[in-house]
Amino acid sequence: MTDSKNPETIVLHAGWRADASTGSVAVPIHQTTSYQFRDTEHAANLFALAEMGNIYTRIMNPTNDVLEQRIAAMEGGAAALAVGSGQAASAFAIQNLARAGDNVVSSTDLYGGTWNLFANTMKDQGLEVRFVDPADPEAFRNATDDRTRAYYAETLPNPKLQVFPIKEVADIGREMGIPLIMDNTACPILCRPFEHGAAVIVYSTTKYIGGHGNSIGGVLVDGGNFPWADFPERQPALNTPDPSYHGAVWTVATEPLGPVAYIIKARTTLLRDLGAPMAPMNAFLFLQGLETLPLRMRAHCENAQAVADWLGQQSGIASVIHPSNQNGEMRRRADAYLSGGYGGLVGFELAGGKDAGRKFIDSLELFYHVANIGDARSLAIHPGSTTHSQLTPEEQIMTGVTDGYVRLSIGIEHIDDIIADLSQALAKAG
Ligand code: PLP
Repeated sequence: MTDSKNPETIVLHAGWRADASTGSVAVPIHQTTSYQFRDTEHAANLFALAEMGNIYTRIMNPTNDVLEQRIAAMEGGAAALAVGSGQAASAFAIQNLARAGDNVVSSTDLYGGTWNLFANTMKDQGLEVRFVDPADPEAFRNATDDRTRAYYAETLPNPKLQVFPIKEVADIGREMGIPLIMDNTACPILCRPFEHGAAVIVYSTTKYIGGHGNSIGGVLVDGGNFPWADFPERQPALNTPDPSYHGAVWTVATEPLGPVAYIIKARTTLLRDLGAPMAPMNAFLFLQGLETLPLRMRAHCENAQAVADWLGQQSGIASVIHPSNQNGEMRRRADAYLSGGYGGLVGFELAGGKDAGRKFIDSLELFYHVANIGDARSLAIHPGSTTHSQLTPEEQIMTGVTDGYVRLSIGIEHIDDIIADLSQALAKAG
């Protein structure tokens, strides 16, 4: 059944049937650091990549491997790499291609932590991230020069919740040998970025994929759909000898394994050198989450739509932010790139500004007040004083955060209970 094209089946069956020795149906948690080599020749072959197999859990683990295969299959990609957090996935996605002196063009519409990584930590490492407004896809082309190695964006960025023009920007990049990396954290199942030309997908599995708010993790997925070898000057990291692996040229060395140069390099160099592997226990928990992901996404979407519609009818609310009530080009993008619903996130602005926002959040009883999204439970936060507080006021405005903005991550509780909690909190916020 692993050749199914249907996500509902893939998330239950891809990459695993049962344990060969015990018959265990659930994927075992391989809580081990290392793996016994058969003999010295076997060990030498594994280290030389002449044979694929387990060496050390910082670089690979059999539990993580099932999660990687399953997510790659869900996305229609070639292979995946599990890492310790969504942040690590975003950093690796770029560091795998760009070196000091290179640059990346990124959408301004980003999670605050990613913004910080790009604007500060990567800058300190000599890597320039050029931020452009995705309202005009041509802005990506205009910011490109000879040292541009990748484009980066979020599919459904919160707080703006304006869907990114994936195909438009992927097409611009493909002309010049520049891959589009999509952070699809907010809309797994609903959007399949590889079908629109993206080359790499990153996830914070912490969110919807885990779904139960118990583990931090991230995944990079290689679409296997990008012609790295056709652009040797644009993509030197994959096309020139790597001194850290006896001069291996990744596009050549990985040829017998399929179109996986990008992900193999990330595993064998970045994960080896920087660490940040996913813990096998967390991979197991993400596998549990993945099994019900399509069902949960449906429920998140239905409830979020009902909340957006309800909020639109209440007084004291200046605006409701949800893809379903956008017009023109933004609505076209939402309809072109999302299917099965508009996601589980809803934003709104209270007419009473910051004070009303605080009062509203402090009055919630069912909703949790947490710095997370994508939990089965409903969550709320005031981004201006929390997730986006380290940004300058100008940066906050660029990413869509205003004083009175409240972000809701709508869970899968009964809709009547969700609305009842919002209703009593709104009444208290005035
Ligand atoms: N990408 C997006 C869209 C996010 O919302 C987050 C976290 O909130 C991340 C990446 C970072 O993920 P993590 O918290 O797992 O490091």
